[in-house]
Amino acid sequence: MPRGVVPRQPARTGRQDKVRTTRVRASVTPGRPAQQRSKAAPQQRQKASTKPVPARAGKVAGQTAGKPSSYNPIAPERVAEILKRLDQLYPDVTCALTHSSAWELLVATILSAQSTDVNVNRVTPELFRKYPTVEAFAALTPEELEPDIRSTGFFRNKSKSVVGAAKKIVSDFGGQVPDEMDKLLTIPGVARKTANVVLGTWFKKAEGVVVDTHVHRISRRLELTTQNDPQKIEQDLMKIVPRDKWILFSHQVIWHGRKLCYARKPRCAECALENLCHAADKTWSTVDTHKGAKA
Ligand code: SF4
Repeated sequence: MPRGVVPRQPARTGRQDKVRTTRVRASVTPGRPAQQRSKAAPQQRQKASTKPVPARAGKVAGQTAGKPSSYNPIAPERVAEILKRLDQLYPDVTCALTHSSAWELLVATILSAQSTDVNVNRVTPELFRKYPTVEAFAALTPEELEPDIRSTGFFRNKSKSVVGAAKKIVSDFGGQVPDEMDKLLTIPGVARKTANVVLGTWFKKAEGVVVDTHVHRISRRLELTTQNDPQKIEQDLMKIVPRDKWILFSHQVIWHGRKLCYARKPRCAECALENLCHAADKTWSTVDTHKGAKA
Protein backbone atom coordinates (compact mmCIF):
# COMPACT_ATOMS: atom_id res chain seq x y z
CA MET A 1 0.00 0.00 0.00
CA PRO A 2 1.62 3.32 -0.99
CA ARG A 3 2.24 5.93 1.66
CA GLY A 4 -0.66 8.21 2.43
CA VAL A 5 -3.28 5.80 1.11
CA VAL A 6 -4.33 3.95 4.22
CA PRO A 7 -8.04 3.16 4.42
CA ARG A 8 -9.68 2.99 7.80
CA GLN A 9 -10.13 -0.50 9.16
CA PRO A 10 -13.30 -1.96 10.69
CA ALA A 11 -13.62 -1.50 14.44
CA ARG A 12 -12.92 -4.56 16.58
CA THR A 13 -16.47 -4.41 17.84
CA GLY A 14 -17.63 -5.23 14.35
CA ARG A 15 -19.41 -1.88 14.11
CA GLN A 16 -18.63 0.39 11.22
CA ASP A 17 -16.37 3.01 12.63
CA LYS A 18 -17.77 6.56 12.71
CA VAL A 19 -20.96 5.83 10.84
CA ARG A 20 -23.57 8.08 12.40
CA THR A 21 -27.15 7.29 13.01
CA THR A 22 -28.29 10.79 12.11
CA ARG A 23 -29.43 11.95 8.74
CA VAL A 24 -26.31 13.78 7.65
CA ARG A 25 -26.25 15.61 4.40
CA ALA A 26 -23.22 14.27 2.58
CA SER A 27 -20.73 16.68 1.16
CA VAL A 28 -19.17 15.81 -2.18
CA THR A 29 -15.76 17.07 -1.16
CA PRO A 30 -13.50 14.29 -2.42
CA GLY A 31 -11.28 12.60 0.12
CA ARG A 32 -12.99 14.22 3.07
CA PRO A 33 -13.93 11.56 5.61
CA ALA A 34 -17.51 11.18 6.77
CA GLN A 35 -16.82 12.16 10.37
CA GLN A 36 -15.35 15.49 9.19
CA ARG A 37 -18.31 16.19 7.02
CA SER A 38 -20.71 15.70 9.91
CA LYS A 39 -19.05 18.61 11.74
CA ALA A 40 -20.61 20.87 9.14
CA ALA A 41 -24.06 20.12 10.49
CA PRO A 42 -23.97 20.63 14.28
CA GLN A 43 -27.69 21.27 14.55
CA GLN A 44 -28.31 17.90 12.96
CA ARG A 45 -25.88 16.22 15.31
CA GLN A 46 -27.75 17.56 18.32
CA LYS A 47 -30.79 15.63 17.23
CA ALA A 48 -28.80 12.41 17.08
CA SER A 49 -29.86 9.49 19.12
CA THR A 50 -27.57 8.87 22.05
CA LYS A 51 -27.81 5.19 21.34
CA PRO A 52 -25.94 4.40 18.15
CA VAL A 53 -27.27 1.60 16.06
CA PRO A 54 -24.71 -0.42 14.17
CA ALA A 55 -25.01 0.15 10.48
CA ARG A 56 -25.25 -2.64 7.99
CA ALA A 57 -23.25 -2.62 4.81
CA GLY A 58 -25.33 -1.53 1.87
CA LYS A 59 -27.43 0.77 3.96
CA VAL A 60 -26.27 3.22 6.56
CA ALA A 61 -28.48 3.41 9.60
CA GLY A 62 -30.63 6.48 9.75
CA GLN A 63 -30.03 7.39 6.15
CA THR A 64 -32.00 6.77 3.07
CA ALA A 65 -30.34 5.76 -0.12
CA GLY A 66 -31.33 9.08 -1.64
CA LYS A 67 -28.60 11.44 -2.71
CA PRO A 68 -28.33 15.08 -1.80
CA SER A 69 -29.38 17.17 -4.75
CA SER A 70 -25.92 18.78 -4.98
CA TYR A 71 -24.16 15.45 -5.35
CA ASN A 72 -22.50 15.04 -8.72
CA PRO A 73 -20.63 11.75 -9.03
CA ILE A 74 -18.80 12.89 -12.15
CA ALA A 75 -17.75 16.28 -10.77
CA PRO A 76 -14.23 16.91 -12.13
CA GLU A 77 -12.73 17.14 -8.64
CA ARG A 78 -14.23 13.80 -7.61
CA VAL A 79 -13.03 12.09 -10.79
CA ALA A 80 -9.58 13.66 -10.33
CA GLU A 81 -9.40 12.33 -6.78
CA ILE A 82 -10.35 8.83 -7.93
CA LEU A 83 -7.66 8.96 -10.63
CA LYS A 84 -5.11 10.25 -8.13
CA ARG A 85 -5.78 7.41 -5.73
CA LEU A 86 -5.65 4.84 -8.53
CA ASP A 87 -2.26 6.27 -9.52
CA GLN A 88 -1.05 5.85 -5.95
CA LEU A 89 -2.38 2.32 -5.71
CA TYR A 90 -1.36 1.03 -9.12
CA PRO A 91 1.37 3.29 -10.52
CA ASP A 92 2.93 0.97 -13.13
CA VAL A 93 0.35 -1.63 -14.03
CA THR A 94 -0.09 -3.00 -17.49
CA CYS A 95 -1.82 -5.84 -19.30
CA ALA A 96 -1.43 -9.18 -17.49
CA LEU A 97 -1.70 -11.28 -20.66
CA THR A 98 1.65 -12.75 -21.69
CA HIS A 99 2.55 -11.75 -25.25
CA SER A 100 5.47 -10.75 -27.42
CA SER A 101 3.70 -9.30 -30.48
CA ALA A 102 0.48 -7.56 -31.46
CA TRP A 103 -0.80 -10.84 -32.91
CA GLU A 104 -0.12 -12.77 -29.69
CA LEU A 105 -1.84 -10.06 -27.66
CA LEU A 106 -4.83 -10.14 -29.98
CA VAL A 107 -5.14 -13.93 -29.67
CA ALA A 108 -4.68 -13.81 -25.88
CA THR A 109 -7.37 -11.13 -25.58
CA ILE A 110 -9.83 -13.18 -27.64
CA LEU A 111 -9.09 -16.20 -25.43
CA SER A 112 -9.53 -14.16 -22.24
CA ALA A 113 -13.28 -13.67 -22.78
CA GLN A 114 -15.15 -15.45 -19.98
CA SER A 115 -11.82 -16.72 -18.67
CA THR A 116 -9.03 -15.47 -16.43
CA ASP A 117 -5.69 -14.10 -17.51
CA VAL A 118 -3.98 -16.80 -15.45
CA ASN A 119 -5.87 -19.45 -17.38
CA VAL A 120 -5.00 -17.88 -20.72
CA ASN A 121 -1.33 -17.50 -19.75
CA ARG A 122 -1.20 -21.24 -19.05
CA VAL A 123 -2.32 -22.00 -22.60
CA THR A 124 -0.63 -19.41 -24.80
CA PRO A 125 3.10 -20.27 -24.41
CA GLU A 126 2.58 -23.77 -25.83
CA LEU A 127 0.06 -22.43 -28.37
CA PHE A 128 2.54 -19.90 -29.80
CA ARG A 129 5.32 -22.50 -29.79
CA LYS A 130 3.15 -24.81 -31.86
CA TYR A 131 1.90 -22.07 -34.23
CA PRO A 132 4.57 -19.36 -34.21
CA THR A 133 3.14 -17.07 -36.92
CA VAL A 134 -0.14 -15.56 -38.06
CA GLU A 135 0.21 -17.62 -41.22
CA ALA A 136 0.43 -20.83 -39.19
CA PHE A 137 -2.90 -19.99 -37.53
CA ALA A 138 -4.42 -19.01 -40.88
CA ALA A 139 -3.60 -22.44 -42.27
CA LEU A 140 -5.68 -24.18 -39.57
CA THR A 141 -9.32 -25.07 -39.47
CA PRO A 142 -11.17 -24.04 -36.31
CA GLU A 143 -11.61 -27.71 -35.42
CA GLU A 144 -7.85 -28.23 -35.49
CA LEU A 145 -7.29 -25.40 -33.03
CA GLU A 146 -10.02 -26.38 -30.58
CA PRO A 147 -8.05 -28.92 -28.50
CA ASP A 148 -5.27 -26.39 -27.87
CA ILE A 149 -7.56 -23.76 -26.36
CA ARG A 150 -10.23 -25.96 -24.83
CA SER A 151 -9.32 -25.07 -21.23
CA THR A 152 -10.08 -21.36 -21.77
CA GLY A 153 -13.79 -22.13 -22.22
CA PHE A 154 -16.11 -21.33 -25.14
CA PHE A 155 -13.42 -22.93 -27.26
CA ARG A 156 -15.53 -23.50 -30.38
CA ASN A 157 -16.38 -19.83 -30.80
CA LYS A 158 -12.90 -18.72 -29.80
CA SER A 159 -11.38 -21.14 -32.30
CA LYS A 160 -13.51 -19.69 -35.10
CA SER A 161 -12.54 -16.16 -34.07
CA VAL A 162 -8.80 -16.82 -33.86
CA VAL A 163 -8.60 -18.69 -37.16
CA GLY A 164 -10.92 -16.15 -38.82
CA ALA A 165 -8.79 -13.30 -37.49
CA ALA A 166 -5.59 -14.91 -38.77
CA LYS A 167 -7.06 -15.45 -42.25
CA LYS A 168 -8.28 -11.84 -42.41
CA ILE A 169 -4.96 -10.41 -41.23
CA VAL A 170 -3.04 -12.50 -43.77
CA SER A 171 -5.39 -11.74 -46.67
CA ASP A 172 -6.15 -8.05 -46.02
CA PHE A 173 -3.30 -6.68 -43.94
CA GLY A 174 -0.22 -8.52 -45.22
CA GLY A 175 0.11 -10.58 -42.03
CA GLN A 176 0.44 -7.49 -39.81
CA VAL A 177 -2.08 -6.56 -37.14
CA PRO A 178 -3.36 -3.10 -38.14
CA ASP A 179 -2.93 -0.21 -35.71
CA GLU A 180 -6.18 1.57 -36.54
CA MET A 181 -9.49 1.10 -34.80
CA ASP A 182 -11.56 0.97 -38.02
CA LYS A 183 -9.41 -1.77 -39.51
CA LEU A 184 -9.21 -3.77 -36.30
CA LEU A 185 -12.98 -3.79 -36.07
CA THR A 186 -13.21 -5.59 -39.45
CA ILE A 187 -11.38 -8.61 -38.00
CA PRO A 188 -13.53 -11.57 -36.88
CA GLY A 189 -13.78 -11.81 -33.10
CA VAL A 190 -12.49 -8.28 -32.56
CA ALA A 191 -14.83 -5.76 -30.95
CA ARG A 192 -13.92 -2.48 -29.28
CA LYS A 193 -12.62 -4.08 -26.10
CA THR A 194 -10.07 -6.25 -27.91
CA ALA A 195 -9.19 -3.42 -30.30
CA ASN A 196 -8.59 -1.05 -27.37
CA VAL A 197 -6.38 -3.61 -25.62
CA VAL A 198 -4.22 -4.07 -28.73
CA LEU A 199 -4.10 -0.36 -29.59
CA GLY A 200 -3.40 0.77 -26.02
CA THR A 201 -1.06 -1.94 -24.78
CA TRP A 202 0.90 -2.78 -27.93
CA PHE A 203 0.68 0.33 -30.10
CA LYS A 204 0.38 2.81 -27.17
CA LYS A 205 -2.51 4.51 -28.95
CA ALA A 206 -5.32 5.88 -26.80
CA GLU A 207 -8.35 5.41 -29.01
CA GLY A 208 -10.75 4.43 -26.25
CA VAL A 209 -11.12 2.89 -22.83
CA VAL A 210 -11.06 -0.87 -22.37
CA VAL A 211 -14.38 -1.92 -20.83
CA ASP A 212 -14.08 -5.46 -19.59
CA THR A 213 -16.05 -7.03 -16.77
CA HIS A 214 -13.98 -5.25 -14.08
CA VAL A 215 -14.21 -1.80 -15.66
CA HIS A 216 -17.92 -2.37 -16.23
CA ARG A 217 -18.56 -3.27 -12.60
CA ILE A 218 -16.31 -0.71 -10.89
CA SER A 219 -17.32 2.23 -13.08
CA ARG A 220 -20.91 1.60 -12.06
CA ARG A 221 -20.07 1.16 -8.39
CA LEU A 222 -18.13 4.43 -8.42
CA GLU A 223 -21.02 6.11 -10.29
CA LEU A 224 -18.81 7.12 -13.19
CA THR A 225 -21.57 5.77 -15.39
CA THR A 226 -25.11 4.53 -15.05
CA GLN A 227 -24.98 2.59 -18.31
CA ASN A 228 -24.95 -1.15 -18.72
CA ASP A 229 -23.87 -1.42 -22.32
CA PRO A 230 -20.03 -1.57 -22.64
CA GLN A 231 -19.97 0.85 -25.57
CA LYS A 232 -22.03 3.42 -23.68
CA ILE A 233 -19.89 2.94 -20.57
CA GLU A 234 -16.83 3.56 -22.71
CA GLN A 235 -18.35 6.76 -24.10
CA ASP A 236 -19.12 7.97 -20.57
CA LEU A 237 -15.60 7.22 -19.36
CA MET A 238 -14.03 8.91 -22.38
CA LYS A 239 -15.90 12.10 -21.47
CA ILE A 240 -14.67 12.28 -17.87
CA VAL A 241 -11.23 10.65 -17.92
CA PRO A 242 -8.51 12.69 -19.66
CA ARG A 243 -7.35 11.07 -22.88
CA ASP A 244 -3.76 10.69 -21.71
CA LYS A 245 -5.10 8.51 -18.88
CA TRP A 246 -7.33 6.20 -20.91
CA ILE A 247 -4.81 3.37 -21.26
CA LEU A 248 -3.51 3.42 -17.69
CA PHE A 249 -6.97 3.99 -16.20
CA SER A 250 -8.25 0.76 -17.79
CA HIS A 251 -5.32 -1.25 -16.46
CA GLN A 252 -5.65 0.29 -12.99
CA VAL A 253 -9.36 -0.45 -12.72
CA ILE A 254 -8.83 -4.01 -13.99
CA TRP A 255 -6.16 -4.56 -11.32
CA HIS A 256 -8.42 -3.03 -8.68
CA GLY A 257 -11.13 -5.50 -9.67
CA ARG A 258 -8.72 -8.39 -9.37
CA LYS A 259 -7.23 -7.36 -6.04
CA LEU A 260 -10.04 -5.78 -4.03
CA CYS A 261 -13.21 -4.79 -5.80
CA TYR A 262 -14.48 -8.30 -6.45
CA ALA A 263 -17.87 -8.90 -8.02
CA ARG A 264 -18.93 -10.66 -4.83
CA LYS A 265 -17.80 -9.47 -1.42
CA PRO A 266 -15.52 -6.61 -2.41
CA ARG A 267 -12.86 -5.90 0.21
CA CYS A 268 -14.11 -2.39 0.98
CA ALA A 269 -12.44 -2.14 4.40
CA GLU A 270 -9.06 -2.33 2.65
CA CYS A 271 -9.96 -0.07 -0.26
CA ALA A 272 -8.31 3.34 -0.60
CA LEU A 273 -11.31 4.58 -2.58
CA GLU A 274 -13.70 3.69 0.21
CA ASN A 275 -14.78 7.14 1.34
CA LEU A 276 -15.41 8.15 -2.29
CA CYS A 277 -17.48 5.08 -3.04
CA HIS A 278 -21.22 4.90 -2.39
CA ALA A 279 -21.82 1.50 -3.96
CA ALA A 280 -24.99 -0.17 -2.77
CA ASP A 281 -23.24 -3.54 -2.48
CA LYS A 282 -20.29 -2.41 -0.37
CA THR A 283 -19.31 -4.80 2.39
CA TRP A 284 -18.26 -2.00 4.75
CA SER A 285 -18.88 1.71 4.58
CA THR A 286 -18.11 5.00 6.30
CA VAL A 287 -20.31 6.96 3.90
CA ASP A 288 -23.89 6.76 2.78
CA THR A 289 -24.67 4.30 0.04
CA HIS A 290 -26.65 4.97 -3.12
CA LYS A 291 -29.31 2.62 -4.43
CA GLY A 292 -28.36 3.09 -8.05
CA ALA A 293 -24.61 2.59 -7.52
CA LYS A 294 -24.29 -1.09 -8.13
CA ALA A 295 -22.51 -3.43 -10.41
S1 SF4 B 1 -15.13 0.66 -1.56
FE1 SF4 B 1 -15.63 -1.48 -2.07
S2 SF4 B 1 -17.11 -1.35 -3.77
FE2 SF4 B 1 -16.12 0.67 -3.59
S3 SF4 B 1 -14.40 0.60 -5.03
FE3 SF4 B 1 -13.60 -0.04 -3.03
S4 SF4 B 1 -13.75 -2.29 -2.99
FE4 SF4 B 1 -15.07 -1.52 -4.67
